[in-house]
Amino acid sequence: MSYLKERIIQDGIVINENILKVDSFLNHQIDPKVMREVSKQFVEYFGNKGVTKILTIEASGIAPAIWVASDLGVPMLFAKKTEPSTLKSEDLYATEVHSFTKNKTSRVIVSKKYLKSEDKVLIIDDFLANGEASLGLMDLVKQSGAEVVGVGICIEKSFQSGREKLEQAGADIYSICRIKSLANQTVEFVEDEE
Ligand code: 5GP
Repeated sequence: MSYLKERIIQDGIVINENILKVDSFLNHQIDPKVMREVSKQFVEYFGNKGVTKILTIEASGIAPAIWVASDLGVPMLFAKKTEPSTLKSEDLYATEVHSFTKNKTSRVIVSKKYLKSEDKVLIIDDFLANGEASLGLMDLVKQSGAEVVGVGICIEKSFQSGREKLEQAGADIYSICRIKSLANQTVEFVEDEE
């Protein structure tokens, strides 16, 4: 069993049948051992694909993304939800992302300087729900002419539409933990996991 799964069983809080709270170890207080272990698994899966850059979205994706970037020895780039005044609009790629948890659509940006057509990009995020964040990141990569090597997710909620949408968009998705259901205040994992 992965350490992340152990922590979910021990400390995950089911808020309702759609939302799992993991802020004691993944996206507020962060357990470095979770990051080390998930990164190891992402590297095992994507490590031989010639990744040149890790891309995520602020804020919760940054911790796992920087760990993977460090393990692969490549830079990590995060899409920003606020536009720096120092960046001119012609110098950035932008897309719209609807946040599942905040029920809010934001424009997210990256500087054109840090995504180049020759890049092979691995997208990393904490959760996969309806796929909006990852699809937005894939759109930014597409605008730059770079290639998406894959999408690495810490916790996939398989009962939501994200995986299907990303697969339709041609992404190779690898999730550390896959949750089948959050009904009845219980976390049920997809069965084929160890
Ligand atoms: P998506 O874009 O796939 O619909 O949702 C992914 C984003 O929403 C993630 O970056 C994550 O921050 C947030 N998110 C989605 N579902 C959950 C959840 O159950 N719990 C928490 N804590 N965040 C979630």
